[in-house]
Amino acid sequence: MRKPFVAGNWKMNTDSHSSVSLARDVAAGMSEIAGHKIDVAVIPPFVYLQSVARTLSASSIAVGAQDVYTEQQGAFTGEISGSMLKDIGCTYALCGHSERRHVIGETDELINKKVSAAISGGLLPILCVGELLEQRKTEVTKEVVTRQIRAGLAGLGDEKVSAVTVAYEPVWAIGTGLTATTKQAQEAHRLIRKLLSEMYDEQLADDIRILYGGSVKPDNAAELMGQQDVDGLLVGGASLDADDFVAIVKGAV
Ligand code: PEP
Repeated sequence: MRKPFVAGNWKMNTDSHSSVSLARDVAAGMSEIAGHKIDVAVIPPFVYLQSVARTLSASSIAVGAQDVYTEQQGAFTGEISGSMLKDIGCTYALCGHSERRHVIGETDELINKKVSAAISGGLLPILCVGELLEQRKTEVTKEVVTRQIRAGLAGLGDEKVSAVTVAYEPVWAIGTGLTATTKQAQEAHRLIRKLLSEMYDEQLADDIRILYGGSVKPDNAAELMGQQDVDGLLVGGASLDADDFVAIVKGAV
């Protein structure tokens, strides 16, 4: 039985004050679902991670980073390692978010190194995959997602891959207000789970959580979570509003 998981990606938003108050408001809202079996995380910008982690230290809400470097330390100006993130209280790291793939230009090979380095640094990576609108229109979603999963997890054995969460985020649904239909989401998640069962043993593939991301809102969270292979939600814009994020989490329990 996979435990539901909802994570809020704050992207490059908030400031020193609002990041802490947002974290505090989310924690306060979570008290209403105390006792439910669900993992919840917030993913603030790097510079606010430590203060948000401190704010949430007495809560059950975990903290994640939006990216992680491929090495643990050394002459890599401007980069942040998994072990540093672990040191300040992070649990998760996003790897290969669509904005890093398509705005910053990260490749599957780089993302694979980041997934591996996140695990070496003691973090749980969230590997993000998903097709562009053009790729969906030309019916190559399966090929794109298969390539991203195979490349992103290359070289990871059973033990390491059990630390990974996958997030299926169709790029055309991110920040656009367009959400995949429940059928489209389930089809993609089923495809990913089948692929994982070809790459690893059946039980392991069954245990890996696959989150859906792309314009998740309070009014579509429960319906998406009702799909058999949707194990959680990766929320962008709506996670910047504590009431909306808490409502989404409630929809996922
Ligand atoms: C995201 O950033 O991962 C995301 C899904 O964003 P949004 O919910 O705003 O579409």
